[in-house]
Amino acid sequence: MQFNVAGPLAALERALHRAMPGYCAFCLGKTAPGKSWCLPCYRELAWHLGGCRVCAEPLGGRTAICRHCREHPPAFDRVQAPLLYRGAVTRLVQDFKFQASPRAGILLCELFVSALGPCDAQALLPVPLHPDRARERGFNQSQWLAERLGSRLQLPVAQALRRVDTPSQRALSRPARFANMDEAFTLLGALPARVAIVDDVVTTGATVNALARAARRAGARRVTIYALARTSLALS
Ligand SMILES: [Zn+2]
Ligand SMILES: [Zn+2]
Repeated sequence: MQFNVAGPLAALERALHRAMPGYCAFCLGKTAPGKSWCLPCYRELAWHLGGCRVCAEPLGGRTAICRHCREHPPAFDRVQAPLLYRGAVTRLVQDFKFQASPRAGILLCELFVSALGPCDAQALLPVPLHPDRARERGFNQSQWLAERLGSRLQLPVAQALRRVDTPSQRALSRPARFANMDEAFTLLGALPARVAIVDDVVTTGATVNALARAARRAGARRVTIYALARTSLALS
């Protein structure tokens, strides 16, 4: 469902909509039992079906292993990203990330858990911000998500340290993004065998790949990425 509200009031309108329990967060209709959404809106979301079995890169509806993952297998085993970064999902993620909207965050977590299936991770690991950036922003969305998911899934939350600040990867080519992140993270303490790295949106996977490498150095044997949404490389 699209909101027909334009201009500066749009964000406020959306926040108000989401603040009303019992009403669908997307259309204000009656919710499905125990949910924050109605079934038609839930079905209409940009669910990510198919894609690369490893990095979840959208492959036009096909399920396969993409060329990048075949040629350069990443340090993680697979990305679980149930939604595409599109439409209502993009707006929710932006409200959560840039306006620190807890309502949007809670809704995104609920959507993620509703699509997760069995979870065999023994610990969650959020993508840390560089200390300078954390001071500047005051909100680490991955940390928030990991804590919320950790309490929903009854999993401990491990911590890593970001040693390299990477303000913007956008201008960099794909190999440069991966090289830029090399050795960017270090783990604070040992990890169990099965770990899930938590991030809001995965694009190239360069950041989570670097963190997955650090997780393996700290003892993880199987590393899954839990992301709310996946962008397409073609669109990034
Ligand atoms: Zn609805
Ligand atoms: Zn792939």
